[in-house]
Amino acid sequence: MASFKPYRVSSNGKFKLSKIDPGDIPFAQGSEDQQREQLTELAIELDKLQNRLHAEGRRKVLLVLQGMDTSGKDGTIRWVFSRTSPLGVRVIPFKVPSELERAHDFLWRCHAVVPGSGQLMIWNRSHYEDVLVPVVEELIDKKETQRRYRQINDFERLLVETGTTVIKCMLHISSEEQRTRLQERIDTPGKQWKFSRGDLAVRLKWDAYQTAYEKALAATSTEHAPWHVIPANSKTHRNLMIAQLLVRSLKDMKLQLPPADPALEGLVVT
Ligand code: AMP
Ligand code: MG
Repeated sequence: MASFKPYRVSSNGKFKLSKIDPGDIPFAQGSEDQQREQLTELAIELDKLQNRLHAEGRRKVLLVLQGMDTSGKDGTIRWVFSRTSPLGVRVIPFKVPSELERAHDFLWRCHAVVPGSGQLMIWNRSHYEDVLVPVVEELIDKKETQRRYRQINDFERLLVETGTTVIKCMLHISSEEQRTRLQERIDTPGKQWKFSRGDLAVRLKWDAYQTAYEKALAATSTEHAPWHVIPANSKTHRNLMIAQLLVRSLKDMKLQLPPADPALEGLVVT
């Protein structure tokens, strides 16, 4: 298996996003058929691990997906979790904050949707939007941005210390790949619903967003909750890498089924 190490953002605060090629495909090996088969196998394995997480009923898993428009957050959820029972998995999309949400601190709406015991929660965007959009739009200054990085690290430490495995993935695509995907959304009637005119305004600020991502990832990749950058120009590679990262992370948890109940030994159902 390929190594995650080159894609794991170090916790020493130094990180260059431009050093990671969004076209890399180290986790996509073999023929297309083999890759499809491998993804199915990983998805089935993930389902089994999720079932075990639920059966153990103690610990929690939070998957954070971040990335520019069209980077494949929705596609990742669709394919990586294609075999996972909806019983123990929930997806939380983070949209522009409502008036009620804006009336509170930025982590308020996040804390309300963290996974409970035995649950796996997927955040489609996250609290990281609050150190991206307002930074690029210059709605908060450097001091407030630094404060938020620290608050995010403290918040995630709280989650980890209370039994949550936090897995953070930044889906990394090139500007050219985004151009192609946005154009496809515009040109394909069945995909137009995914396009919003605002996406073009955000695209014009591509460089500012890349910088904001780079700084946020550098400041919030910690030992307890590290970031992984996922080369995502190839959708297959993106899916395979995230599926492998999840399977490995859940295996590392050494999830245990509850022990057999001695009181049930010899019990016969009549
Ligand atoms: P989508 O994920 O394509 O449905 O779009 C959701 C939109 O909500 C994106 O443009 C995000 O940048 C925006 N959004 C999510 N959270 C925040 C936030 N905390 N502040 C500002 N914009 C946000
Ligand atoms: Mg969108």
